[in-house]
Amino acid sequence: MSSITLALSKGRIFEETLPLLAAAGIVPADNPETSRKLIIDTNRPDVRLVIVRATDTPTYVQYGAADLGIAGKDVLLEHGGAGLYQPLDLDIAKCRLCVATRKGFDYAAASRPGGRIRVATKYINSAKAHFAAKGVHVDLIKLYGSMELAPLVGLADAIVDLVSSGGTLRANNLEEVEEIMPISSRLIVNQASLKLKRELIQPLLEAFAGAVK
Ligand code: ATP
Ligand code: MG
Repeated sequence: MSSITLALSKGRIFEETLPLLAAAGIVPADNPETSRKLIIDTNRPDVRLVIVRATDTPTYVQYGAADLGIAGKDVLLEHGGAGLYQPLDLDIAKCRLCVATRKGFDYAAASRPGGRIRVATKYINSAKAHFAAKGVHVDLIKLYGSMELAPLVGLADAIVDLVSSGGTLRANNLEEVEEIMPISSRLIVNQASLKLKRELIQPLLEAFAGAVK
C-alpha cells in the first residue's frame, strides 16, 4: 500500500495547518509541542507527519524524503524551489518581509539609486534581489537569529526581516521603512510524488484548497 509523508515545522505552521488537515480528515496522533517524536502518525494509516525546522522543509520535499510540506514564501525564496511544485497558497502564517532601521536613520538617502547600505539578514537572496532592483549597492551580512540587534550595535544600517505586529521592532527602537513583500505559507509537493502518488495527493490538495476559501 502506498503512503504519504507531510513535512511540517513546529509552532505557528503546525498550529495553523491543523484545521486544514482536519478538513482532509487527518488528525495527528501526537502534539509535536509536547512530544519529542519527529515522526508523528495520524488517524490515517497511509498518512504520517515529519517535524522539521522551518528552513529545512523544502529540502525534505525536494529530495522526496517527504512527499509534501508546508513552508513560508520567505523560506521558499531562499531555497529556490528546485524540484518542488507549489500548487496552493494556504493563506496561513501571514506576515511581511520588510526593511527596518533604527529610528532616525536616513533610509531615503541610503536607499537612493547609487546609494550604499549595510544590511544584516537571514534572507540573503531576497535582500539581494530587493536592493538590486532599486539600484542600491548592498553589503549583506548573514545572520541566523535576532536580527533586530544588528542596527543597535552598529553591525548594520538596516535589517531585512519578517514583521507581523511590529511589536519587536518597537521594543527595540527600530522602525519599518519599506515593505518588500507579503508572506504566507504554501503547500509544496515533490514533483515525482505528485505523479507516482496522485491518487493519494490529489484529494488532499482538493480538501486543502476547499478549506482555504
Ligand atoms: P525559529 O523561530 O525557531 O528560528 P523559524 O523562524 O524558521 O524558526 P517560525 O518562527 O516558526 O520558524 O516561522 C516559520 C514561518 O512562519 C516563517 O518561515 C514565516 O513564513 C512565518 N512567520 C515567521 N514569523 C512570523 C510572524 N511573526 N507572524 C506570522 N508568520 C510568521
Ligand atoms: Mg521565528
